[in-house]
Amino acid sequence: MRTRTGRVEGEQKGPRREERRVVRVLPDVSGLNKAFDYFVPADLSGPPISVGSLVRVQLHGRRTAGWVVAVDVEPPEGVKLEPILKSSSIGPTDDVVELAQWVAVQWAGRWAAVLKTASPDPFVRSLPRSAPAVVATGPSDGLDVLFDGLGPRVVRSAPGTDRFEILRAAALRGPAIVVAPDQKTAAAFAGRLSRAGVRTHRYPNQWAGGFEGGVVLGARSAVFASVPGLASIVVLDEHDDSLANERNPNWHARDVAVERARRAKIPCLLVSASPSPAALVMTEDVRLPDRTAERAGWPVVQIIDQRDGDPGRTGLFSGSLVRRLREGGRAVCILNRKGRAVMLACATCGELVRSSTGDELMIEDDSGLVAIRSGETRPRICLACSGTKLKRLRLGVSRAAEELSTLLREPVGEVTGTTGAGEGLDHRVIVGTEALLHRVGAATTVVFLDFDNELLAPRYRAAEQAMTLLLRAASIVGPRAGGGRVLVQTRVPDHRVLRAASRAQPEFFSTEELALRELGELPPYRGLAMVSGTAAEAFVEPLHSRLEVDVLGPDRDGRFLVKGADRGTVAAALSGLPRPKEGRVSVAVDPPRA
Ligand SMILES: [Zn+2]
Repeated sequence: MRTRTGRVEGEQKGPRREERRVVRVLPDVSGLNKAFDYFVPADLSGPPISVGSLVRVQLHGRRTAGWVVAVDVEPPEGVKLEPILKSSSIGPTDDVVELAQWVAVQWAGRWAAVLKTASPDPFVRSLPRSAPAVVATGPSDGLDVLFDGLGPRVVRSAPGTDRFEILRAAALRGPAIVVAPDQKTAAAFAGRLSRAGVRTHRYPNQWAGGFEGGVVLGARSAVFASVPGLASIVVLDEHDDSLANERNPNWHARDVAVERARRAKIPCLLVSASPSPAALVMTEDVRLPDRTAERAGWPVVQIIDQRDGDPGRTGLFSGSLVRRLREGGRAVCILNRKGRAVMLACATCGELVRSSTGDELMIEDDSGLVAIRSGETRPRICLACSGTKLKRLRLGVSRAAEELSTLLREPVGEVTGTTGAGEGLDHRVIVGTEALLHRVGAATTVVFLDFDNELLAPRYRAAEQAMTLLLRAASIVGPRAGGGRVLVQTRVPDHRVLRAASRAQPEFFSTEELALRELGELPPYRGLAMVSGTAAEAFVEPLHSRLEVDVLGPDRDGRFLVKGADRGTVAAALSGLPRPKEGRVSVAVDPPRA
């Protein structure tokens, strides 16, 4: 971070220079990632100034908000300083301010953008008195051993397992942060902890709560909560993409939590039913559940091989699927039809048309078949039987609901991303897009009608994201003892994701996935960024001559991929580039969907 001092015109005001307190302020101005020095007037009202304080200052003749990022700094000799105009609010603690800077550097974004996530809204002018060191009492159920030692630790536990005792064990150690995949989960655990006598605070609404001790719970941004004396961090469902920030900087709460714990020398638990490749590369410390308990915590995952025949008008509803749905109970059917997703299958043998590695669907273009991600091409021919007659598999949610309704002889609900909240949910059987998995709390059966579309999508994380969908479905239907069942229709029944889920053994997926990532020189073994926008080409141009990164692209959408040894290398190369004068550029380091 380069710094410069603010200038003042005319006469210098305030006390004499040697008595003045000088602080460094990071203004919240887009396109600017630089701090400037100001002095603190003796008569400044509002909360006292410290690192993290939200202030107002004058910059280039305009008033702007900003954060104090350093205090008692030594400004360059002979420079006249401007005063802080206003102390607006108490802000994040100094460890969080530093963490935010690390995040900005690692994901090539603005420090101020991260500080905003870490700051109170509305402003906070005074803090609660600090609380007793002990925030919870009672027996720990033996789970306190999970918190022994330092550094990140992966805790694998089946999708149907209750994580409450882990959180209570965290509370017994002292102030804690719990990052959940969504606010609904955070709220549910906050309620249970508080009924068990633990002091809890929700982030960001109860922003100042962390200063009272206790447990701060929230979605991904809770990883930036200000909690003096923080004793542990727990990240729930660390594999879930909802923990990744959707805008630049695209930080992931798991990675931020691990870095925060490293700096604070406290334990950090990464809890997941199927630990992510990123987590498994970060640490070898993986705690496995008892095998019987793990298996019991997964629902039955039943694989239906669609290559055997083509029942129904559309081939979307196999006989065994319809039989299961007729048995009764609430059922949710997921159909992912987004963008140009069109699946091709061999009309003779039913195999999906895939690239030679088998990991990506191919689509038709003018010259034959093409795989979007790898660029592989070949004539229209089936690799399994050399057949040349291909068929398109395509059906929208509405037609699927209609056909299913005919097959079941009862009305079927319909939900897509654009359906209003709560709409279409009052039927026993519902067909919808992935959005349904976030709207339905419980069901007896979840069906993936065209899982291959997700599994073989042209993205390097396609298999990992497909596994995430299965885990969400698993938590909706609950453990196998309760009758919960997930049905997956597929033409690749031996895929690593399906082997892992049907056997309730996540390592069938992760071992193979990690090997493929390493071979393909992909994250988490390498750093990767995606550059898009109208000026992307001009923006990445200077990188072609650089040794530390490789530039790939443009792809069909004009996007470029930048690869390097690790995330920091890629981010540093991108941060140093000048922005083109015209056009739009957007940079995503570690993009979830590349
Ligand atoms: Zn064939």
